Amino acid sequence: MMENRSSLDEVLEEIHAAEQRAGRQPGSVRLMAVTKTVPAEQVNEVVRAGVTLLGENRVQEFLSKKDDYLPGCEIHFIGTLQKNKVKYLIDTVDMIESVNSLSLAEEISRQAVKKGKVMPVLLEINIGEEASKSGLNPAGLPEMLEKIQAFPGIRVEGLMSIPPICETKAEIRRYFKEMHKLFLDTRAKKLDNINMNVLSMGMSGDFAEAIEEGSTQVRIGTRLFGSR
Ligand SMILES: *Cc1c(COP(=O)(O)O)cnc(C)c1O
Repeated sequence: MMENRSSLDEVLEEIHAAEQRAGRQPGSVRLMAVTKTVPAEQVNEVVRAGVTLLGENRVQEFLSKKDDYLPGCEIHFIGTLQKNKVKYLIDTVDMIESVNSLSLAEEISRQAVKKGKVMPVLLEINIGEEASKSGLNPAGLPEMLEKIQAFPGIRVEGLMSIPPICETKAEIRRYFKEMHKLFLDTRAKKLDNINMNVLSMGMSGDFAEAIEEGSTQVRIGTRLFGSR
């Protein structure tokens, strides 16, 4: 579909421009296409056009679509994940970005060990400390990392966040800055079994600001596929 193709080109151009403004290396930010509610054929259009990473929110929807996806894409789970669904993802996704509790990490560890695998994960941070949102409070991160370090079958690769809805770009930028600081501070600790390679933040409405503040991976749905 031409419409998707040109949306993709526009998004890639804006990513590139934000990288440049921020003095970041060209190509240092990875684009994830977020596929919720989008039919597999439409997802395949952006894959044909060069997208290499897909983001999945819903286990059931993903399982029903995955066999229709073109092969070769990396797939990350980014949605709220119930513990009893983890077993469906161990063999089907390449990363779980939405680890928001110790008990979820424990279950991922258990299921991965069963399959003789190591699942890469991101820890989801509730950077606005919103009561309505899941995710770890920033202050709880060190303790969480200390515990997860000891779990077999799971390897932390970085952090993910969905900041609060903000009135202004300045306000959202502040949350991205806080996330980047948390990411760098954690990286500086050089903890065993904990990598800080991926900082997943920025969506259709704010990915340029996220990149300028240090995001390494943006998750885009609406700008690629239209509004849901
Ligand atoms: C839907 C979703 C996105 C993409 O949001 P858009 O505003 O449509 O780009 C990114 N991250 C998560 C976790 C999502 O659920």
